[in-house]
Amino acid sequence: MALFKKMDNIEDDQNQVDVNGEVEHVKVLIVGSGPAGYTAAIYAARANLNPVMYEGMEPGGQLTTTTDVENYPGYPEGIQGPKMMEEFKQQAERFGTDVRFGMATAADLSQRPYTVTIDDKKKVQADALIIATGASAKYLGLESEEKFRGMGVSACATCDGFFYKGQDVAVVGGGDSAAEEALYLAGICKKVYMIHRRDELRASKIMQERVFRTDNIEVLWNSQTEEVLGDQDGVTGVRLKKRDGEEYEISVSGFFLAIGHKPNSDIFKGQLDMDDTGYINTEPGSTHTNVEGVFACGDVQDSIYRQAVTAAGSGCQAALDSERYLSRKEFEEAKAAEKEQAEK
Ligand code: NDP
Repeated sequence: MALFKKMDNIEDDQNQVDVNGEVEHVKVLIVGSGPAGYTAAIYAARANLNPVMYEGMEPGGQLTTTTDVENYPGYPEGIQGPKMMEEFKQQAERFGTDVRFGMATAADLSQRPYTVTIDDKKKVQADALIIATGASAKYLGLESEEKFRGMGVSACATCDGFFYKGQDVAVVGGGDSAAEEALYLAGICKKVYMIHRRDELRASKIMQERVFRTDNIEVLWNSQTEEVLGDQDGVTGVRLKKRDGEEYEISVSGFFLAIGHKPNSDIFKGQLDMDDTGYINTEPGSTHTNVEGVFACGDVQDSIYRQAVTAAGSGCQAALDSERYLSRKEFEEAKAAEKEQAEK
């Protein structure tokens, strides 16, 4: 009996806002609204966990900056990235997720319930926290690059490479991502220029070898992008500058950035285990972080796959991990309360 009493109390406490309207207690809080966050929300809502989601700065995440998505299973004709994310959102809301506009600006994971500050003002306390804040592709910061974003400029060859089938394209960067993107594009495009600012690649030896052995990849050494060239139809070329100051141009219709991603994990620094670049470490095969009851899914914990479908898969895992965690916790707390009662 005590068991059920305890759980009823927990239920009653949900979604309580204090008198100042500043601190709210929720069972499951999801921060971030890409495929990982929405999938976590769908599963958590269907498990009656009453999830509350804060969408973050870019509701829908990175997919809202792409056009056609053709590699997400279930859309044989493809779908526009923003539309797909709108449908993810509708599905999450259909089962009762409370989706809110707002950005997590601080977090205190030192004690449970965990506190997340929204927009530097409101505090939300959560019994379980799902971090799905994603990662942001780095761009060079050129005005021309911004101008042609989505019109030939892309930070995802796997997403957009197909649109440049049989054409000439360029990839910027010299790391494993650039090598991987160049190799992927080499299988689709006529010619791939790899633009690198130094005279040696950062990519692993094996990836370098594969790049050098691929006939239609040409590495442009010691070259920096000065300007992305284009017209009303999109990108037409790139103006480059060599280290010695010499300028030259190449003709391409696609310009792919692969100079790294930045995981959006700053507010958790010093509280969660991360790798050197800020990707949150999760236990292999799960979404558990080093803090019990805090789960990470999607690109914020994945530097390797970074696909919508893999993010969605890990969002599902995060919701299932949270559900199991919460029911174990509730059971343990109820048992402890029962024991205390018995000892009185
Ligand atoms: P990296 O940081 O390894 O490489 C970034 C590349 O971009 C570097 O070559 C860098 O040049 C270049 N770059 C950075 N900023 C600029 C700029 N402003 N202008 C021009 N060039 C610039 O990032 P990656 O995304 O490639 O890799 C991240 C991590 O993920 C790595 O640990 C990598 O090994 C791993 N990874 C593994 C894969 C796999 O195992 N299959 C696939 C993809 C990534 P410079 O070299 O001069 O610094």
